[in-house]
Amino acid sequence: MEIRAEGRVELVCVLSPCALCDTPFELADGDPLLVARSGRGELVGRVCSGCASSGEEELRERLLERARRLRERADRLEDLACEEIRLPPLRE
Ligand SMILES: [Zn+2]
Repeated sequence: MEIRAEGRVELVCVLSPCALCDTPFELADGDPLLVARSGRGELVGRVCSGCASSGEEELRERLLERARRLRERADRLEDLACEEIRLPPLRE
């Protein structure tokens, strides 16, 4: 994976979740737009300065921690999908 600046933020200010750690972070006009790309060059997404400035080991731990949380969330969603589903009546 590679993290690099690709252009500059052109919006005045936007809150965006980091593609790596999922923490919302602020992008302001003129800030470097940090994005992560996989080793094959596939776009992963915008990256917060915390991830971009962390060391290799810390970043690896962040990625593994997020993967663990996503796996837990996926398990919860799959459990819910297996339960009976009740929906509110549709409005007429
Ligand atoms: Zn991050």
